[in-house]
Amino acid sequence: MDYRPVAAEGGVASAAGVIDYRLARRAVLREFRRGRLSTTDICDAHPELHRAAVSCSRPTEDLCPVCEQADVVNVIYAFGPGLPRSGRCVTTPQELASLHERATHKGQYTCYVVEVCTECRWNHLTRVFPLGLQRAGA
Ligand SMILES: [Zn+2]
Repeated sequence: MDYRPVAAEGGVASAAGVIDYRLARRAVLREFRRGRLSTTDICDAHPELHRAAVSCSRPTEDLCPVCEQADVVNVIYAFGPGLPRSGRCVTTPQELASLHERATHKGQYTCYVVEVCTECRWNHLTRVFPLGLQRAGA
């Protein structure tokens, strides 16, 4: 894959417009393990995010890197025209596909994937990706 750094965001963008925040995530966890960040600093999921993690998230098989007591879940927020200003929580691939189809141009909708641990409230943005087809002539 063709990755290029997006320095300002601490993420890595792919040719498809996906920004990957795993490097930034790793850096935070490294600082935590070195004792430079505490659980108070990094396990601070907002109550709204925690609620979304409990009620409308997608499960993973990845053990929480902080408490190692539960698998993290992915909360996906979609932003764009016709969606709530605070974003819409997307839970199924069908919902994603439907937004993708509804978009009149690539990037009309943007999805933010946040990894959350419902046990210790660890959370980190892992990925941002655009939805919408690249239409002819656009
Ligand atoms: Zn945890």
